[in-house]
Amino acid sequence: MSERVAFLGLGIMGSRMAANLAENGFELTVHNRTAETAEAFAAEHDGVTVAATPAQAAAEAAIVFTMVVDGDQVRQVLLGEDGAATEAAPGTLFVDCSTIGPAATLEIGAELDERGSSLVDAPVTGSSPKAQDGTLTFMVGASQAEFERLQEPLQAMGELIVRAGPRGQGQMIKLLNNALAAANCAAVGEALIVGSRAGLDLDALVQVVGSGAGASTMLDLKAAPMRSHDYSTLFKLEHMLKDVRLCLEEGQRLGVPFPSAAHAREILCAGMGMGHADDDFAAMIEPLQGGAGERL
Ligand code: NAP
Repeated sequence: MSERVAFLGLGIMGSRMAANLAENGFELTVHNRTAETAEAFAAEHDGVTVAATPAQAAAEAAIVFTMVVDGDQVRQVLLGEDGAATEAAPGTLFVDCSTIGPAATLEIGAELDERGSSLVDAPVTGSSPKAQDGTLTFMVGASQAEFERLQEPLQAMGELIVRAGPRGQGQMIKLLNNALAAANCAAVGEALIVGSRAGLDLDALVQVVGSGAGASTMLDLKAAPMRSHDYSTLFKLEHMLKDVRLCLEEGQRLGVPFPSAAHAREILCAGMGMGHADDDFAAMIEPLQGGAGERL
């Protein structure tokens, strides 16, 4: 029989991930900072219990997932007042799917160890469409035993589930993945702008590049929204900036430069300044256009 699960944080990703747990028959308790969101979620999914606090949610569960924004929010929801760790039974396994970087993960994990619980990092790639259809990729920082214990719930939400290594290593892979994505998104935007200034047919450009050595996931996903200036949010620009910043901090700590990620960080920063924090990071095209004096 499956272990009872709690899910804390029902935003773009968490709401869809928790929905897949509910649909796969898990006994599920949910909590969200804005309580109405959790109430609305429970109204839409059978057998879901709403908890007023993270502590109440964790008291009823053996495995507690978190999907909030950053390290401060994970710390608050797990270790703050009425935090999930305050009522958790010994042996409770906390699984953080947020992208918060290895440093915060190791710090929070050490505090949970002291309380007799454990923390696994299981960040995801795939954005909201893959969260919706249960095909996320999970990169898991955990012991082998913890990894095996989590197979059932992770398979309800994901397709590719990779054990990255011990605690924190899932976060490191996630940061590198997103820094690469941001750098590539910037390069795609820059190429589109040069092509536009050169008077190219951008449909032809995208078609040829997409079948050649310049092809990429970012070209597939972001060229169209960049060209139509449709920044409907799959992944917030502000969150991408967080991830690139965390990656650069790790690089700096290790004494390893990552110039293309640093370039992407500056573009994301300019996007924030232009008011695109909550837009999709395809809005990176806005400061790039401004710098070139060329609008797609
Ligand atoms: P989001 O839409 O902003 O959702 C965050 C959720 O966390 C909100 O529902 C928020 O509640 C809730 N929350 C914050 N503090 C809380 C607390 N103390 N207690 C309970 N709930 C709390 O963010 P998202 O796009 O789902 O992203 C979540 C994480 O996944 C981030 O680390 C992001 O970098 C990562 N990620 C996102 C994507 C993507 O494509 N979106 C893909 C991969 C990874 P409120 O309703 O009160 O705001």
